[in-house]
Amino acid sequence: MYTPLALYIDGEFLGGEGRPEQDVINPATGEVLGQLPHARPEDLQRALAAAQRAFGQWRHSSPMERSAILRQVAQLSRERAEDIARALTLDQGKPLAESRGEIIACADHADWHAEECRRIYGRIIPARKPEVRQMVLREPVGVCAAFTPWNFPYNQAIRKVCAAIGAGCTIILKGPEDAPSAVMAIARMFHDAGLPPGVLNVVWGVPAEVSDTLIRSPIVRKVSFTGSVPVGKQLAALAGAHMKRVTMELGGHSPVLVFDDADVPRAARLLARFKVRNAGQVCISPTRFYIQDGAYDAFLETFLDELRSVRVGDGLAPDTEMGPLAHERRLPAMERFVEDARARGGEVLLGGGRLDRPGFFFEPTVVGGLPDDALLMTEEPFGPIAPISRFSDPEDALRRANSLPFGLSAYVFTRSLQTAHHASQALESGLVNINHFGSALPETPFGGVKDSGIGSEGGTETFDGYLVTKFVTQT
Ligand code: NAD
Repeated sequence: MYTPLALYIDGEFLGGEGRPEQDVINPATGEVLGQLPHARPEDLQRALAAAQRAFGQWRHSSPMERSAILRQVAQLSRERAEDIARALTLDQGKPLAESRGEIIACADHADWHAEECRRIYGRIIPARKPEVRQMVLREPVGVCAAFTPWNFPYNQAIRKVCAAIGAGCTIILKGPEDAPSAVMAIARMFHDAGLPPGVLNVVWGVPAEVSDTLIRSPIVRKVSFTGSVPVGKQLAALAGAHMKRVTMELGGHSPVLVFDDADVPRAARLLARFKVRNAGQVCISPTRFYIQDGAYDAFLETFLDELRSVRVGDGLAPDTEMGPLAHERRLPAMERFVEDARARGGEVLLGGGRLDRPGFFFEPTVVGGLPDDALLMTEEPFGPIAPISRFSDPEDALRRANSLPFGLSAYVFTRSLQTAHHASQALESGLVNINHFGSALPETPFGGVKDSGIGSEGGTETFDGYLVTKFVTQT
C-alpha cells in the first residue's frame, strides 16, 4: 500500500542492500510504514560523479527537450495524483484532500517551468564601435544540491527540481527522511518521462552529514534549501565559505493585521481555516494576529467558533479537516509554546494540549493576552497555535509586525484602499496578501526577505538562481 523506498542515482533505483535504514512512521497512528535506505559515503560520491557527467550533456540540451520532459512530468503528476496523495497522507499526515491539492498544484508548477524554460533569453548590448558585437548569455550554473523539508514534500521538491532541470542544470536532491514518498514519486516520474541518467539524483541520510558532503564538494556549484532559519544560516555560511550560490526559502512568523473597517467575520473564518491547514505546519501560516480594538471581540468570537468546528483526525478519513503533526518531536515543541504562554500571563482561549489518542495530534489552540516578547510572538510556532493580540494605532501595529528578524508573508484585512496601499508598502515581507490568500502559485514569485531567505522560486524569477551571466564581446 505504501511506496517502495530507494535512492535514485545515475538513473538507477537502489534499495537497502546492506545500507543503514531508518523507519518511516505514520504520524496518525505511530505505525511503521517502511524502511528508508541511507546513502553511504560512496553513494554520495557516485551521485556527485553522475551529476557532473550528466551536466556535460544536459547543459547543451535544447529548451524544447527540457520542456517536453517537464510537460510529461506534469501529465504523470495528474495521472498518478491519487496514489501519490495517499502515500503523502500516510507519511506526512495531512488530510487527503490537501495532499491531492498539493499534487495537482505541482503539476501546474511543472507546466509553468516547461513554458518558461523556453524563454531563458540573453541580450545584445549596443556597442561603442560598429565592428564590435556585445552579447549577454545566461548559462546553467552547474550541479545543484537541494534540501527539502517535510511539510510540503512534493511542492518544495518539485519546484527546485523543475527550476534546475529547466535551466539546464543537474541536481542532487535530499528530501525529507520523515516523509519520503512524494520525493520518491518525483524521481519515478522523471525516470518514466525519459530524463537522462544522472540529471536528477535522490539521496537520503543524516541531513547534516549529507549536506556537509555535498556543499563542500567542488562539483556542486549551487545550493538550494527550504527549511528552518537556523539550518538555513548554517548551510548558507558553508556555501559562502566555498563561494557557492544559494537560494534559501526559510521560515517566517507571519503577522496578520485586521483593521476595524475589515469584513471581520469573513476574515475570522478565512484565517481560522488557513491556520489549521497542514496543522499549521506551513512557512506562510498566519502566526501573529494583531486585531484592532473595534474588531477584536467580533473577530475572536467567530475565530474561536470556526476553530471549534474543525474535525481533527486521521488524514485518510474522509471528513478529516486537520491531521496530526508530522512527527512526534513537534508535540513537545507545541507544549513549550503553551507553557511559556501560561508563564507569561497569557490566557489559553481554546485547546492547549495533545489529543488523547494514538498518533501525534495537537488541538487547535488560541492564546490571548501575551506580551510581545513571549515565545509565541517571537518564534515561529509551526503548528496549530494562534496568539491573538490587540492594537489601537495602525502605525504601532505595523511597527510590531516588522519588529522581528523574519519577513516571509504578511496578511492585511481592511476595506480601505488607502490602508491596504500603505500597509503593502510598509510591511517588511516578501509576500503581502490583502483580504485573501494568494501566494505560492507557479506564475508568481515566492520568497522571503530579512532572515526568511534569499531568492525567489516561481514566477519569471524562477530560473534566476540556476543561471550565471556570461558577457561575450567580439569583433
Ligand atoms: P529542523 O530545523 O531540524 O529541520 C528543518 C528541515 O531541515 C528538515 O527537513 C531537516 O531534514 C532539514 N535539515 C536539518 N538540518 C539539516 C542540515 N544540516 N542539512 C540539510 N538539511 C537539514 O527542524 P524540524 O523539527 O524538522 O522542523 C521544525 C522547524 O523547521 C519548524 O519550526 C520550522 O521553522 C522549520 N521548517 C520550515 C519549513 C519551511 O517551509 N520553511 C519547513 C519545515 C520546517
